[in-house]
Amino acid sequence: MKHDPIALRVPDEVAAIGEACRVVHVVLGELQARVAPGVTTAELDAHAEARLAELGAEPAFKGYHGFPACICISVNEEIVHGIPGPRKLQDGDLVSLDFGAVKDGWYGDAAITVSVGRPAPQAKRLIQVTAEALARGVAAARAGARIGDVGAAVQGCVEAQGFSVVRDFVGHGIGRALHEPPAVPNFGAPGTGILLRPGMVLAIEPMVTAGRPEVELLGDGWTAISADRSLCAHFEHTVAVTEAGPLVLGTGNTARNVA
Ligand code: MG
Repeated sequence: MKHDPIALRVPDEVAAIGEACRVVHVVLGELQARVAPGVTTAELDAHAEARLAELGAEPAFKGYHGFPACICISVNEEIVHGIPGPRKLQDGDLVSLDFGAVKDGWYGDAAITVSVGRPAPQAKRLIQVTAEALARGVAAARAGARIGDVGAAVQGCVEAQGFSVVRDFVGHGIGRALHEPPAVPNFGAPGTGILLRPGMVLAIEPMVTAGRPEVELLGDGWTAISADRSLCAHFEHTVAVTEAGPLVLGTGNTARNVA
């Protein structure tokens, strides 16, 4: 099997990707604060687009393979690639915000899942487990480890709680393009797959369902939902593999910043 080369970024390049990620996290924080009953997903998208311009960045998703918006907003049983529109958020909804920015030609990508108002117990646990799965995946992204170690860390965390990782969508390398090699599955066996080397920059993004892992595509051609209509959550960080350990980009921390 032929593999495209995986870019190894020098520290200045990692810092430039970090700048794009910083924009992503600034805007995601603002979006999180705006999530409330009655707010439409199109309003969130409009805010993101306006803020990108103010921050000297461009949307990474808009126009990507024809995607029509800046943010993917996926609600409840929607897992990824939901298209913003007139839908009004309701109390108790689980809202995944997946957002990418381009700054000075470098891409950053991150996702969070938040509840509208107080989450139901299952939704709260799904958020906590998915966030923890991301943290474990990030912690596994060490130089000398393999890509399967990342997937195994995510999968183990999720399945131990009775939830499922989606197989149909995976994380990815990122840098000069939104999606670069390698694929970063949220499942796998320890010690398998490509060797992680300093300078690799990976978007690690567990997508988790409260039920089974199968997904279906809605008629809009984008929105993926859990086939069993179970609740879904999605968290993502852009992470640099460094000699000093995994570095989460754009969150304001400059040192190893995961447990
Ligand atoms: Mg991504």
